[in-house]
Amino acid sequence: MKKRHLIIGAGNAGLSAALTIAQLKPKDEIEIISHEPWAPYCRCLLTYYLEGVITKERLFSWGEEIIKKNHILYRQNKRVINVDVKNLTVECENGRQTNADTILIATGGEPQKPDFPGAELPGIFTLRTFADALAIEKRIRPGGRWAVAGAGLVSLKTIAALHHHDINIDLFATSGRILSQVLDPYAANLAAARLTDNKVAINVNEDIIAATTTPDNQLKLTSNRGRELRVDGLLYGKGVNAASPLDNSSLSRDDWGAAISSAPQPWQGTQDGISVNSYLELNENLFVAGDTARIFDLVRGETDRLPLWPLAGEQGLVAGFNMVNANLKESRLSRRYAGGISCNAFSIFGLDFISAGYREILADESGWHSLEQKRGDSYSRLNFYRNQLKGFIISGSGNTSSGNIKKAGPLLARIKREALSRQ
Ligand SMILES: Cc1cc2nc3c(=O)[nH]c(=O)nc-3n(C[C@H](O)[C@H](O)[C@H](O)COP(=O)(O)OP(=O)(O)OC[C@H]3O[C@@H](n4cnc5c(N)ncnc54)[C@H](O)[C@@H]3O)c2cc1C
Repeated sequence: MKKRHLIIGAGNAGLSAALTIAQLKPKDEIEIISHEPWAPYCRCLLTYYLEGVITKERLFSWGEEIIKKNHILYRQNKRVINVDVKNLTVECENGRQTNADTILIATGGEPQKPDFPGAELPGIFTLRTFADALAIEKRIRPGGRWAVAGAGLVSLKTIAALHHHDINIDLFATSGRILSQVLDPYAANLAAARLTDNKVAINVNEDIIAATTTPDNQLKLTSNRGRELRVDGLLYGKGVNAASPLDNSSLSRDDWGAAISSAPQPWQGTQDGISVNSYLELNENLFVAGDTARIFDLVRGETDRLPLWPLAGEQGLVAGFNMVNANLKESRLSRRYAGGISCNAFSIFGLDFISAGYREILADESGWHSLEQKRGDSYSRLNFYRNQLKGFIISGSGNTSSGNIKKAGPLLARIKREALSRQ
């Protein structure tokens, strides 16, 4: 029987689910709703668009092709404000109501907004959407000066884009080092040195606490150290929260069996996101995937948000498979999502990094040990807990890079194999 599937969100999770449904059940009806006013695009490439290395056409070609080739009904510029999880009805901001046989919530994330005095002034940006990128692009003045608050990956990718336009940059990190979620102190120092070599001023343990506008339309920023800085713009990159259209956040179906790992936790996970079971199902015929979902972290052995492009795609695929095979209780044709591993690959002015799982160990916890090699920019650190590989950091530049980075694939596979063998 022909079914109707409704997908809220046109990111990698939503599109990957739509593609899976279209391939498995070409006659089923698929509708995607997105609150952005254009075709789907590859969010990860936004900073490359700003840098000028990819065109707008390239940014959008991925999504446009999937929508067109698979006869997907795509509704842009429509914000979903509520999902009736029992009746499988979705309500949009404009009052439109629509229902479906299955629904996927794939609404991704929303960047944390600054809340200091002056945070609403023109020239202060977050970067999550193409609209954000266009606004930043408009403000860019070659040879100007920008501040970047928050030293995570989106900030670092934006710095590369701004640098390309000959812009002087001041980076502010709340903690004592940059990239603290994805690198250990040694690797963070390598990254910081590369930034400093490229004239990025790094200010650690320092935050922007106020902004005003100057008569010549610049921003005057004040830091918690009392320093003042005149800039053309401020990129605020302090993390991303789950974007959920659900009123009823108490609904949750967590069945992952979070007790699997007895490993100590060197970092705290996020608290937000929608908890689903391992079929990525929140309620009967209602699924959640991508950045907004709390999924099983294979390394840490507990559920958390793992907001990464490839993982959103994996989850979209599983959700799409289960949507065509719902009702799951009666169907043997369903797929469990084993879980994901946090893994980041990035480059800072030619210095390449790849890191995954536990990037650091707790020196005072027994059972941990590390193997490390250091030679200039070339660094590798493998972290073990009770002799199982739990995480790694690898870096390299120039000739050493490709050899080093090639080691990451087998290491990631080993982490996954060892984690899955415990399930
Ligand atoms: C600049 C930048 C660079 C990045 N670089 C990398 C990288 O190098 N590697 C990596 O792994 N990850 C990267 N990421 C993260 C990656 O983009 C996300 O993990 C991924 O896009 C998540 O996909 P998703 O489908 O869950 O959600 P999203 O891509 O966030 O898509 C969410 C969709 O939901 C829609 N939506 C949200 N709320 C509503 C609503 N109420 N009603 C209707 N529609 C709604 C949005 O319009 C959008 O279409 C980057 C992110 C950014 C912003």
